[in-house]
Formats: sequence, C-alpha cells, structure tokens
Amino acid sequence: METITLNNGIKMPVLGYGVYMVDPSVTERCVLDAISVGYRSLDTAQYYENEAMVASAVRKSGIPRDEFFITSKLCLSRPTYEQAKENVKGSLRRMKMDYLDLMLIHWPMGNDSGIWRAFEDLVKEGYLRSIGVSNFYPKTYADLVKNASVIPAVNQIETHVFYQQRPMIQLMAEQGTAVESWGPLAEGMNGIFSHPVLTEVGAAHGKTAAQVALRFLIQQGIIVIPKSVHKERMIQNMDVFDFSLTENEMAAVRTLDTGHNLEGWPADALKYNPNEW
Ligand code: NAD
Repeated sequence: METITLNNGIKMPVLGYGVYMVDPSVTERCVLDAISVGYRSLDTAQYYENEAMVASAVRKSGIPRDEFFITSKLCLSRPTYEQAKENVKGSLRRMKMDYLDLMLIHWPMGNDSGIWRAFEDLVKEGYLRSIGVSNFYPKTYADLVKNASVIPAVNQIETHVFYQQRPMIQLMAEQGTAVESWGPLAEGMNGIFSHPVLTEVGAAHGKTAAQVALRFLIQQGIIVIPKSVHKERMIQNMDVFDFSLTENEMAAVRTLDTGHNLEGWPADALKYNPNEW
C-alpha cells in the first residue's frame, strides 16, 4: 500500500476503509472483510458508535496491532482540557487499545484550542501518535493553529470529483497538513457510479467510474477512505494502484468540480468563499 508521510514523519496509508453509517451490528464483519482483502487503515469515530467493533475486528484478524493505522474522532461540545483528555481515553477504553494512530477533532466543537492542548499532551504521553482535525475551514483552522505547538497532521474534509477543494488543498499544502477526503465517492450522489466522463475515462483503463474517482484524488496526494459493506466493492476500491490517469484525463475530471459541497455541511464550509483568499 502506498503511504503518505505526515508532517511528524509518520507514514499513513493513502487508502483506507471508513465505517460511517456502518451499523454497529455488522461493523465487525465488514471490518474483518476489509482486513481480509488488504485494508490496514481504518477510520471510525465516537459519533459512529462503532469504535469497539472496529477494534474487536482488528484483534480477531490476528494481525499485529502495529500493522494497522487506526483513526478515531472526538465528538464533545465545548469540552474543557481535562474533559477532552478523558474523552480520548474513553475511546481507548472502548477499543481496548493502548494508543491510536490518529485522533481528529470531528468538527469545530468550541474550545478547540483546549482540545488541541489535550491532544498535544496525549501525544507526549504516548496515547496518540498523530493528531489532526476534520471539517476545519480557513477561519477555524487559523484560530486553531494560532496557539498550537503541533500543526495538524491531517484535515479530513468533504472532497470528491464534484467538490474538488482546490483552494483548501493549496492552503493545507502551505501549512503542511495532509488533506484526507471524506465522501471520496460523493456518498453515491450526482450519479457518480455511472457518470459519463468517469465511465469513459475508466473504459480506457478497464476500470469503473468509482475507481477513476478514487484514483483522481490519490494522484493528487489526497488520502481516501471509501466505505462499502460489500466485499467485492471493497476489493474494487483498493484496486486503483495499477493505472494512472493521463494529464488529459485529469483535466477532463477537473471539469466536474461544482465548487461547492453536496452535503450542505458543516456551516463553516458553507460560509467559506475560496475567492476571498
Ligand atoms: P463514500 O463516498 O465512501 O460513499 C459510500 C457509498 O458508496 C456507499 O453507499 C457505498 O455502498 C457506495 N460504494 C462504495 N464503493 C462503491 C463501488 N465501488 N461501486 C458502487 N458503489 C460503491 O461515503 P462515506 O462513507 O460518507 O465516506 C467515506 C468515509 O469517510 C466514511 O465511512 C467515514 O469514515 C468518513 N466520513 C467522515 C466524515 C467527517 O465528518 N469527518 C463525514 C462523512 C464520512
């Protein structure tokens, strides 16, 4: 698996498996399937209520913990520094793990600088290897880094062929924060899986529209974590490293950018005008 070196020197797989809206009752089975076909990076969150099932699948796989890259996300409104620390330790207790590879602030929660100090200290104490944010746009990102001693390793934001996030990608590159796409398949919206441009580009390589959509992001150095509960689609989504899009093909896919998000969330993203900076 190709990796991206984060700003702290730690390597993160460029492709992983996300479990948003994967029902807790099937999460363990889905994650075991994902692991069996080669996924080693797993993306969960407190909000998804399936952290424990992701972790139990990791243990049941019999593969050593240090071969995985496991992400979770804090979700707690306006916590104090102490509450944020305790909240992360709650994830570790639920997951019966000693450390997480990456912990994100799921979206601006209020008192983000307090949460960040807690994260920074949890890195020093060995509970977290890398720390980052999610759904942080220019204002909230700038507010956070202003007092930070550690620059976020990752910003996980809605990014796909219909919302290509070019200004955010440039800003994050300048800051040294890797962009991780959530919804890399646009959550199935806008007819992505039968889109004529993606289908035509895919036909030239014997690939599906989904594979072209993922390849388009990976080829720009963006981390992707597509979700599927079907094993054959998990396999298909991983099978994107044996072809490259030509510059003309990249340009054709670039024309699909609408310049705005499909989810209509978070409020921070809706207010942000890329032309202002
Ligand atoms: P996604 O873009 O990965 O799309 C998932 C949908 O596409 C599912 O309905 C699935 O059945 C379908 N699909 C997947 N592969 C397919 C294929 N090859 N062919 C046809 N259909 C296919 O959407 P997502 O799950 O929202 O995003 C991926 C991950 O990102 C999540 O699981 C989660 O881990 C993370 N996420 C984070 C946030 C955040 O706020 N940080 C928000 C949403 C998602």
